[in-house]
Amino acid sequence: MLADFFSSLPLTLQFPHCYGDRMALPNWRIGRALGIPIHVHASWFAVFFFVTWSLATGYLPDTLPGLSAPRYWGMGGIAALLLFLSVLLHELGHSYVALRYQIPIKQITLFIFGGMAHMGKEPPSPRAEFLIAMAGPLVSLILGASCLGGTMAVESLFGQSGVHGLIVLGSLLGMVNVQLGLFNLIPGFPLDGGRVLRAGLWARNKDFNRATIQAALAGIGFGVALGLIGAILMAGAWSGILGQSIASNGVWLLFIGAFLFSAALASKRQAAPRMLLTSVTVRQVMVQRVVTLLPDMTVQDAVDQYFIAQGCGEFPVCEARQLLGMVTVRDVHALPTALWPWRRVREIMRPTSTAFCIPPDWSIMQAMDRMAQGGWDCLVVMENGEIVGLVTQSAIAHYIQLHKA
Ligand SMILES: [Zn+2]
Repeated sequence: MLADFFSSLPLTLQFPHCYGDRMALPNWRIGRALGIPIHVHASWFAVFFFVTWSLATGYLPDTLPGLSAPRYWGMGGIAALLLFLSVLLHELGHSYVALRYQIPIKQITLFIFGGMAHMGKEPPSPRAEFLIAMAGPLVSLILGASCLGGTMAVESLFGQSGVHGLIVLGSLLGMVNVQLGLFNLIPGFPLDGGRVLRAGLWARNKDFNRATIQAALAGIGFGVALGLIGAILMAGAWSGILGQSIASNGVWLLFIGAFLFSAALASKRQAAPRMLLTSVTVRQVMVQRVVTLLPDMTVQDAVDQYFIAQGCGEFPVCEARQLLGMVTVRDVHALPTALWPWRRVREIMRPTSTAFCIPPDWSIMQAMDRMAQGGWDCLVVMENGEIVGLVTQSAIAHYIQLHKA
């Protein structure tokens, strides 16, 4: 996921963002862009109202005095919509580059903290990761600079008379976009800056999962720091040392800090077992005492003496130390019971293939991928044309359980 966060508006808002998983709360489809469905999450309505309200009752009356309440609310609503449009453009920046790398974007969701582009898979290389991560902040910074530049141009041409409202909205939008770009460059995963950090660590150490863990640790650190700053601002505002408007900034920062902390922690928790799985080899977890079947035994004998007696679902078939194939409980099941005493294992086995034979130096991650592909419960480990062991799903599960502790 790519989630982007609003950062701090002049009034109260910071909008973070990051890439990510879909939220569980209801969301509604509002349109399509670049072929990607655009959704709004239920929490979006709450923050839309909050932004409109704080603009209509605080920021706009302060900077544009003397207008009627309905006008403030109308302008506040338009500004809030433009803010979300800015976030959407930021997400589309990420999405555009991701699509160029053939990474599908399932949807873009606008939610309480900003936006999220749901990427179908991880970037294929550190370079792709870097470019996808940078595209969003780049869009925001360009938008921000254009709004601020345009506002200044309008101001110098027309002065403030008549277009004051436009200037206020333009500079607000400009500042929000600059903040959206800069805030998301904080180098803590899963913020954009954290993705850039991961791309760098990944390129240097050639280990995607280790880079994820390191960048997520930075994300946890920044999450805690933002939360603490938020708490200090709130305490300062409530004790009267800082202004009351600071308090709402503090609350927002605290929320963002908590969000970043939990998102980074989840990323780290996902990456840690993957790192274990890629660093442990099949040789370390394989069962070395391999029970094999003879090709000419009857299926009935195989069932009675092996499948039931050993409690296993798959057996290699061997003759004179030569692997001939594999028989699974599914193959036995496919044969009518009445034929079991009359058919040989040789007739129902699957002939030897690379689908279930792997070398011992593979990682258990590779072995698990292979098992998932073919629906195997176990794979035969072969070295120099001979069976050296069996790797089973339960052996891998036990290894992970033992090493997690
Ligand atoms: Zn972003």
